[in-house]
Amino acid sequence: MSGKIEARINITGRVQGVGFRPFIYRMAVRNGLLGYVINLGDAGVEIIVEGTEDSVARFLDDIRENAPEVSDIEDIFHKFSPFRGRFDSFIIDKSKISGKVASGIYPPDIGICPECLKDMDDPKGRWCEYPFTACAWCGPRFTSVKALPYDRERTHMHDFPMCKHCEEDYFNPLDRRFDAQGITCKICGPKMSLHDASGASIDARDLFTETAKLLLEGNIIAVKGIGGVHLVSLATQDDVLEEFRRRKGRKNQPFALMSPDIGTIRSFAKFNKVEEGFLKGWKRPIVLLRKRHRLISELVAPGLDTVGVMLPYTGIQTMLFKRLDEPALVMTSGNRSGYPMAITNDAALNELKGLADYFLLHNRDIINRSDDSVLRVIQGSPAFTRRSRGYVPDPIDIPVRKGIGIALGAELRNAAAIGTNGKVFMTQYLGDITSLETAESLEKAVQGMRDLLNITCNPDVMACDLHPDYMTSQMAEVMSQEMDIPLVRSQHHHAHITSVMAENGIKDEEVLGIALDGAGYGADGQIWGGEVLKSTYFGYKRVGQLEYIPMPGGDLCAYYPYRMLI
Ligand SMILES: [Zn+2]
Ligand SMILES: [Zn+2]
Ligand SMILES: [Zn+2]
Repeated sequence: MSGKIEARINITGRVQGVGFRPFIYRMAVRNGLLGYVINLGDAGVEIIVEGTEDSVARFLDDIRENAPEVSDIEDIFHKFSPFRGRFDSFIIDKSKISGKVASGIYPPDIGICPECLKDMDDPKGRWCEYPFTACAWCGPRFTSVKALPYDRERTHMHDFPMCKHCEEDYFNPLDRRFDAQGITCKICGPKMSLHDASGASIDARDLFTETAKLLLEGNIIAVKGIGGVHLVSLATQDDVLEEFRRRKGRKNQPFALMSPDIGTIRSFAKFNKVEEGFLKGWKRPIVLLRKRHRLISELVAPGLDTVGVMLPYTGIQTMLFKRLDEPALVMTSGNRSGYPMAITNDAALNELKGLADYFLLHNRDIINRSDDSVLRVIQGSPAFTRRSRGYVPDPIDIPVRKGIGIALGAELRNAAAIGTNGKVFMTQYLGDITSLETAESLEKAVQGMRDLLNITCNPDVMACDLHPDYMTSQMAEVMSQEMDIPLVRSQHHHAHITSVMAENGIKDEEVLGIALDGAGYGADGQIWGGEVLKSTYFGYKRVGQLEYIPMPGGDLCAYYPYRMLI
């Protein structure tokens, strides 16, 4: 028999919003420990336990070995102290709001789990055919939360008090929904609604059956999900896609697809084991795959040998596919040109007027907009075209620990970033920052990330692109003046190279980087096109370049390459 002790255990990493507290509860009870576990405002978890030395040691092993799949433990600190006999049970205590900058990692959105899909198929349960089914291990996270610590009152479930059945599950440590902030059911949860183009609601016995029927008739439908609104149509009919392209004003840009299951994807696209892993994983990105043959319309991705595909990640999408016998649906971000993706019902009905024929919406808020992520697997590793849902706000390690910096990035295909504690937290993908609406979404995204990281003080430094005319550069200038902090202007291609360095975990060494990019404002005031730079994180030497040539209309050439030809 070993003697009794008290232990304080602090865990950092992705440990909030992933069923971690209930997991700790079960491990503590299994090892006969007393005490409590709480979420901290810095995204970490604190545990105080008392018990025998042996059982505390076993408890620590259990935490390391059995942690939930979606969690990611970065560090476990523990400190033993003399036994005091303070507790008579083990409980999950109220969260502690703290003034510290977050050191932990709040989770990205998690695709619906197999257990919840089973619940949706159970005709007797409260979740039968209920599209918002979720549990402690799955569901919206980043898109649902206003601030930390992760508790229901700070999420989009704030407006939906639990019914007595949900409350029972929520407080039952043996239930999968124990302590699940997103718990909801048919009785107490959000509801779907279907509207025509004028916004008038359509009554139907089953809204999903009605929506499926409308899709089969060739309509384009706006469908609200967890990170925004998609525009959805059939992917097999040329005339539907022609009309879709005409309305979106997109002649050749590829549309993304969603397929009901992996076997169906195999019928029109080729993929290897690694790509299959990304398709089926809980992050559910769009993966660019090689096309097989014409099962889907050529107009989905005209002239390309690849097609972007994802699997359903919400109950809403699952229910739609159950009522269709289609190999895939087009599923593209629902935004009017120059606007960010719509996230409210009003925005959907107003901004997507003329784009969508019908609207399948719901009455739950989307707190943080998040487009689908897009990646291609190159030599076994993901290369992102767009890093957003499923990946944000996961940080990337950098070898700079000092201070807090906010970077607003370049103008096109933008994401902002906050650097703190040796990590960079990129915001969700924000698109082109070329209008007031998208500029506003950039400001909101930065503020949202500050809230998640618990950064209430001014940062130490702002960063932006060297290009003086980018809207993002002008915004950074104003913000740095308002906060009275220095502004660093980063050369575009050097920024690309250091980003790739960070993504690949390169520490403090010199690399030879090649940036072949549309255009980037150069240190000599010229527009640079392709550079070979000897780079470190802190500087670069230009050792090779594409020759200078005149660009009629300057940056317009990046939008309209034919200008260069003429
Ligand atoms: Zn689940
Ligand atoms: Zn309920
Ligand atoms: Zn660039």
